[in-house]
Amino acid sequence: MGPPGAGKGTQASFIGETYSIPQISTGDILRDAMKRETDMGKKARDFINEGKLVPDEVVIGIVRDRLQEADVKNGYILDGFPRTTAQADALKTMLATMGQKLDFALSLDVPEELLVERLLDRARKEGRSDDTEPVIRSRLETYRSQTLPLMEYYQNEGILHTVNGVGSLEEVTGRIKGILG
Ligand code: AMP
Repeated sequence: MGPPGAGKGTQASFIGETYSIPQISTGDILRDAMKRETDMGKKARDFINEGKLVPDEVVIGIVRDRLQEADVKNGYILDGFPRTTAQADALKTMLATMGQKLDFALSLDVPEELLVERLLDRARKEGRSDDTEPVIRSRLETYRSQTLPLMEYYQNEGILHTVNGVGSLEEVTGRIKGILG
């Protein structure tokens, strides 16, 4: 977990490679659906381009389907999911049915000024349709109002680890490795 621009995707990809487990990114799955213009992609487009969350039932469905696939047998890293307490509840129920539980919840912590700077830089490099300044502000607000409450949720579950997300890629990676072992 972490605000937009905190480096979730980059660090999740590193964790996936290091531990040989798949990275499940709801954002990537949604962007791919948008590109392919599937029904789900069309449904998600306006939410994404306005910096709002795609409805819970859509993303919960994505994760439910993905967790049925064979490659998640030995573990996986969820990137950008859950983002609401309703999603966290759905995940908990899903995992209980599968006889699984979450081992770690990692939260990447980066000050807001730095996030906007990083996202505008990414916009120049990657051209993501939701990396414009007004949409970035809206995504930050969405994060604050809907995703931040999850910190307490996972704090109460005893699995929350907050990682300082400021520093070089390697420094942040090192901090995460220190937690996961
Ligand atoms: P991300 O790549 O994780 O920054 O996600 C990009 C956009 O996809 C977000 O701003 C949301 O509009 C949407 N999205 C990704 N994951 C979720 C989620 N778990 N719940 C709702 N919307 C999501």
